Amino acid sequence: MTTTAENASILALLPSVDELLNTETAKGLEIDAGRERLTRMSREAIAWLRSEIRELPGDNRPTRESLLREAGARLIQVWQRSRSSRLRRVINATGVVIHTNLGRAPLSDEARRALNDAAGYCNVEYDIRTGDRGRRGEQVESMLAELTGAESAIVVNNCAAAAYLVLSAFAAGREVIISRGELVEIGGEFRVPDVLARTGAVLREVGTTNRTKLADYEKAVNENTAMILKVHPSNYRIVGFIASPTLKELSALAKRKEVLLYEDAGSGALFDLSPSGLGDEPVIKDSIVDGADLVTFSGDKLLGGPQAGLIVGRREYIDHLRKDPLYRALRVSKLIYAALEATLRAYLRGTAENDVPALRMLAADESSIEQRCWLLIERSANPDLRIEMAEGNSAVGGGAAPLAYPRTVLMFLSHAQLRAGEVERKLREREVPVIARIVDNKVAIDLRTVSEADEPELIAALSSL
Ligand SMILES: *Cc1c(COP(=O)(O)O)cnc(C)c1O
Repeated sequence: MTTTAENASILALLPSVDELLNTETAKGLEIDAGRERLTRMSREAIAWLRSEIRELPGDNRPTRESLLREAGARLIQVWQRSRSSRLRRVINATGVVIHTNLGRAPLSDEARRALNDAAGYCNVEYDIRTGDRGRRGEQVESMLAELTGAESAIVVNNCAAAAYLVLSAFAAGREVIISRGELVEIGGEFRVPDVLARTGAVLREVGTTNRTKLADYEKAVNENTAMILKVHPSNYRIVGFIASPTLKELSALAKRKEVLLYEDAGSGALFDLSPSGLGDEPVIKDSIVDGADLVTFSGDKLLGGPQAGLIVGRREYIDHLRKDPLYRALRVSKLIYAALEATLRAYLRGTAENDVPALRMLAADESSIEQRCWLLIERSANPDLRIEMAEGNSAVGGGAAPLAYPRTVLMFLSHAQLRAGEVERKLREREVPVIARIVDNKVAIDLRTVSEADEPELIAALSSL
């Protein structure tokens, strides 16, 4: 490409970085952005302007002043773009309760307070009674044991880490038997066969996609078998002509053959969630009763706590994991223990259904959601906006209960001037973004996942459209 003489003379009018930094616009951003970042962003704004200088609107040749003004406007845009990508609170109006892209389970008020308390110094590895060093996670581990009936428990960064630790510690260089119907991909690159391979375990597939029998497992056991692995098909179901042995049957086989029985329950539940339509989710306590030696599950799926991988089971195995150097690399922070402990307290009190937001949202019935819709519509004043209610479905999300779509009441928005895509974008681009769905070409708001504390903000968002 050649630069014509005229282009070269326009380029000569572009402001320098120092000139831009000296404008009132730039000075106004300096406190928030900091001098160094502002310099970098000014360079970016000028480079952006340079690349488009030939397409600037207006017939008149740009002047030094007009280009400086334009550079200032672009600097503000560069700054706003960097700010909008920061991690911040959003309102989840999608109705997907365990929304992985929006941070999975929202924490309870009690867990938020605990996070805040632990943010400074806290007794994470200190025994207040004796004044000596204490063991990290002891309290949470005993709560988990109590809630699941397991002998012992340990916590790592997430359920993927939990599976990785268990397989590395007990199956490296040995065989792991798994049904062909359970070679799961969870999403986010977690594929059971790949994880197995990475830990050095050898995958021994048995049965078929839809049917696997106890005899298939039995035939596969040999002197190099480390364990039988049962993976919960979290995000899919195989229906029709299907069969697989129960955990109890597998447990009897594992005992007889002296191999380990490990269940990756994925989400799992600490009590039976069938009243919320989630009867398919394995209840961890039942897995322990049925004889699993180790069970892993996530902290931030249906349990409703922070991101964590929970491992429960036989004491000798958990103790073995605790001594593995990999555990040190996968352990969680004081903040996670704090939030997890507060979440588990609600379960021990028997008030989890009410106190843990994910469970409360899942249990909400259509009529209570409809009631909230009416109140919200009454309070949002926008003559350009029509809000209609219609029955619809929420989703569980998070790779759990893929067939459960709780019935809900949706609010469909239609705007006198704006198309659905524009309404959706305007809601998303607010200071506190409101994330909505588009259903049948209309923006749909599902209050199931909007907390009552978020309602004033949502009302302000609807009123401003
Ligand atoms: C979700 C899930 C995982 C991964 O859990 P993370 O906590 O996201 O790491 C592993 N296994 C199963 C069966 C799952 O459902």
